[in-house]
Amino acid sequence: MQDPTILWFRRDLRLSDHAALSAAVARGGPVIALFIRDAQVDALGAAPKFRLEMGLAALAQRLEAAGNRLILRSGPAREVLEEVIEETGAGAVHWQRLYDPEAIERDSRVKAALKKRGTEAHSFAGHLLFEPWQVATQKGDFYKVYSPFWRAVKGRDLPETQAAPSEIPAPRAWPDSETLSDWGLSAAMNRGAEVVAQHVSAGEEAAQQALALFARDRIGDYADQRNFPGVAATSDLSQYLSLGEISPLSCWQAGQRAMAAGKDGAETFLKELVWREFAYHLMYHSPAMLDENWREGWQDFGWNEDPDTPDVLAWKQGRTGVEIVDAAMRELYVTGRMHNRARMVAASYLTKHLLCHWRIGQAWFEECLVDWDPASNAMGWQWVAGSGPDAAPYFRIFNPDTQATRFDRNGSYRSRWLAEGQGDPGPEALAFYDAIPRAWNLSPGDAPARPSLTLAEGRERALAAYGEMKDAA
Ligand code: FAD
Repeated sequence: MQDPTILWFRRDLRLSDHAALSAAVARGGPVIALFIRDAQVDALGAAPKFRLEMGLAALAQRLEAAGNRLILRSGPAREVLEEVIEETGAGAVHWQRLYDPEAIERDSRVKAALKKRGTEAHSFAGHLLFEPWQVATQKGDFYKVYSPFWRAVKGRDLPETQAAPSEIPAPRAWPDSETLSDWGLSAAMNRGAEVVAQHVSAGEEAAQQALALFARDRIGDYADQRNFPGVAATSDLSQYLSLGEISPLSCWQAGQRAMAAGKDGAETFLKELVWREFAYHLMYHSPAMLDENWREGWQDFGWNEDPDTPDVLAWKQGRTGVEIVDAAMRELYVTGRMHNRARMVAASYLTKHLLCHWRIGQAWFEECLVDWDPASNAMGWQWVAGSGPDAAPYFRIFNPDTQATRFDRNGSYRSRWLAEGQGDPGPEALAFYDAIPRAWNLSPGDAPARPSLTLAEGRERALAAYGEMKDAA
């Protein structure tokens, strides 16, 4: 009988369209589905860790329905894999590739160690539509600007998605497993976990439902409506894509079908999926973008780098006194997500009006977003700050009031999330006070916050800092 294959799950918590799993089943022996809580998992922010717990619980259920089981183990990946190989006699380990520098380094070490001991080690594509090295300019370089990247990939033929195996052969005896609840992955969320959980449905089935709903009801108007934070017009797929509960290929094919059916917003949706690809392309080829200014000459920019100033605290607490920024930050604590337009406005206010380093915001989003993604988060922050590839020029400073007038015309987004000054705040505005740390000592009866500087002052200060940097260069 064929020896078992270990399927090492990481950020690919699904059974359908999973090349590593399909190959493990095709190999013929039993499959040991394993998730390892290693240093990379421990280093996740509070919300991504909490969301991971939900995703693992959903994956375990899916595996049980397919006649298998999710084995949980903690420790350095190579050591855990070697232990499980010893215990089960597995002859192969399969996984889906990740592209952040730490995962690449870990996976190369694991692959070398497994090969050395004579165990097959196979990595597969699936977290992206296009492997970062499969898209290159005519000169063989990587793309640094989005539009030509989009033109290079938009017409490419991609395969159909693969169905989930109906049965995943189980081993004769199961290796020991730790218990998910003992890992306490939601502990760092404190009382916020209960609030955010009401806005999150985890797992592959929920992901497929979200895609089906979007393709049926929203995609047609997506191009027109996607910029209005008060309207439920986007796909809400990011949290599923982040943990691989749905494959980008499933989303791409749904977009292609919608385009063939003549739905107007379909191409815009495909373009957004390609922004995600572009972020990964950049991170893979230029990993320093995760923590260094991508553009040269920005190292001396006069940003505040102290994450504990009153301005940063006010921003984190949704108490800057700029309503659309505060609404955005509160949406974040209650839902674990923030509308893309609101992310841009909140990020712009922090990096430009408040003149704070984008890394402060990047780290805070990494702590608070259930859809946290290393590549999209870093690209998003550097794009808004002006230091990133293909970024908005620094001097184009979003005016939050103008943004609110354009994109939240009737004020529904702001009144949904802000309690202060409202006679009868709604449940979501009030939920903010249950989600945040008690130590913040905020209550709905607080007087509305007052900005520490006017929008005009903030803009002038930002432009002056930019001018100084330019002069110094
Ligand atoms: P839709 O509008 O339905 O788009 C479909 C999919 O396309 C998304 O799920 C996402 O995978 C991708 N996408 C859309 N816009 C972008 C974009 N600008 N960049 C990269 N991919 C995109 N996205 C994350 O997934 N994780 C993050 O940590 C993250 N941090 C961000 C930080 C900042 C400062 C900014 C400005 C943007 C960030 N984004 C991040 C991108 C974007 O805001 C979210 O992907 C989007 O809001 C998710 O909602 P949705 O799934 O309904 O998107």
